Amino acid sequence: MIKKIVLSILLIVFICSNPTPVSATINIDKDTVNTLIDDKNFEDAYRILIDSLNESDSDQKLKTLRMILEVDNLLGDTDQLLLHGLELVDSSIQKNSSYDEMIGYYYLGNVYYKLYEDTKALEYFEKMLDVANRYNYELGKGFYHTFSGLISYSYEEYDIALDSFVIAQSHLEKAPLDEDWIFGDFLEDNDIMLSITKSLVNDPSEIQIETIDAIGSSYMDANWNLKLNALWESSFVLNKLGAYEKSVALLEEAYEHLQSTNFGDLYTNLQDYLKYDLAYAYYNTGEYQKSSELVLEDAYDYDIKEEVNRSELINDKLRTLENRSLEAESQRQMRIIGIISAFSLLLILLILIIIKEYFKVKSLTKEVYEKSIKDGLTGLYNRMALVDRYEKEISSKTALAIVDIDDFKDINDSYGHLIGDEVIRKIAEVIEHTMIGIGYAGRYGGEEFLIVIQNTEKTNPWDIAEALRLNVEAIRWSFKSEPITVSIGLLCHSKSNFDEGFKTVDDLLYAAKESGKNMTLSTDYNL
Ligand code: GH3
Ligand code: MG
Ligand code: MG
Repeated sequence: MIKKIVLSILLIVFICSNPTPVSATINIDKDTVNTLIDDKNFEDAYRILIDSLNESDSDQKLKTLRMILEVDNLLGDTDQLLLHGLELVDSSIQKNSSYDEMIGYYYLGNVYYKLYEDTKALEYFEKMLDVANRYNYELGKGFYHTFSGLISYSYEEYDIALDSFVIAQSHLEKAPLDEDWIFGDFLEDNDIMLSITKSLVNDPSEIQIETIDAIGSSYMDANWNLKLNALWESSFVLNKLGAYEKSVALLEEAYEHLQSTNFGDLYTNLQDYLKYDLAYAYYNTGEYQKSSELVLEDAYDYDIKEEVNRSELINDKLRTLENRSLEAESQRQMRIIGIISAFSLLLILLILIIIKEYFKVKSLTKEVYEKSIKDGLTGLYNRMALVDRYEKEISSKTALAIVDIDDFKDINDSYGHLIGDEVIRKIAEVIEHTMIGIGYAGRYGGEEFLIVIQNTEKTNPWDIAEALRLNVEAIRWSFKSEPITVSIGLLCHSKSNFDEGFKTVDDLLYAAKESGKNMTLSTDYNL
């Protein structure tokens, strides 16, 4: 029983901690949308698309947006086209989907093309082309040339337009389209324009009317979009060419096509524009009554309140999009600042470690160096260090002396080596003390010391040596009552090198020992 309870709790915890993303599984019912479009029920199809937009997972969202944009575009709803175009660009940048970003720019270009703002339209088409070139998307390249063609066509520059449509065709033929388009008939649309333009450029005038009329009629069974475009575009050209009857026939077909379409509350300017064209065509054929009926019918209600609400809604959405992109930008900056701070902290830590190590190594090196120049027993310079320093500073103003403890062997023999060491240490201390401010001393070896007296023009070396000898003699020892003495050999003015100087002082020391010890013998002064 307890096991069951525990298992149920675990199951509940598991379910709660792993909520299945319900919205991710609800994706758009494409078949239903397509069936509704086939039935010309745009109102319901569009509602399903908009409803599913909020529930789609992010991948599906891009595709749903594309379908919505397709419908916005053919309805001529520039407001929604602008909103959804911006949203597609924004979402695709977040999702890193360059393809959808390109489609977003395409529809934004369309907004401004429809509003006759060609410069702005071109800006977006160029952004689209840039993405298309970077990732080699044939679709984007095709779109770009189709629009170049349409612009030239609107200025009746049919030769240039034809070239553009031909190039567009070659790109669009190579562009794969996924199943997430409602019509996706860009290739066929371009082909209609290409065929009409080709006839205008190449065919003799009496053939043109037949050809263009045939183009218009040949799309009767095509999809909703192609049928409308083919009928409308051909009738427009036929009207220009003076074939009013044929133009009326095609426009009536197009009008009937639109009348049988359920737009519901959707915004569209298609009917108004078509009515206007048809009224104009009736006028040209002399059917003035029909023409005036249509024009009168055209006096549509203009609900100002609805327009205001609509603009507010659009402004709201634009603000949300703007805020979102600002937020994304500030998040990006915060991330960068975070990374920089972390790196700076690391760098500071690294520098601190390096500094610490540097000082450790420096003090270690100092310690090793000090050890290498000092004598272990006395702390004075060892022989090598003293000789080294002496040779560097050698001049006639330096004096060199050797100090040797008298009868030291006897001390060792009588009191032991430890006492002998103590004697060496104590005498070294007295020597060091005596030399403060005067020069320096070192242990040459055993019970022998070397001293160097600097600035002999100011300090008399003889006096220093004698003071030293007397200082040693004055030491009171605990183990014996008699003093311990030293003998000194002194060279008052140094020679060219240590060896020569040493020989002199060593000889003098020998002589001092021979003469009874406890005395200083010097090159210049003698007792
Ligand atoms: P002199 O008066 O002629 O200098 O006679 P001395 O006995 O002082 O000289 P000698 O050269 O005969 O003896 C020196 C002794 O010093 C020999 C050696 O065992 C001893 N000695 C050398 N180094 C040390 C040391 O570091 N500690 C101790 N305790 N004895 C040392
Ligand atoms: Mg000796
Ligand atoms: Mg000695």
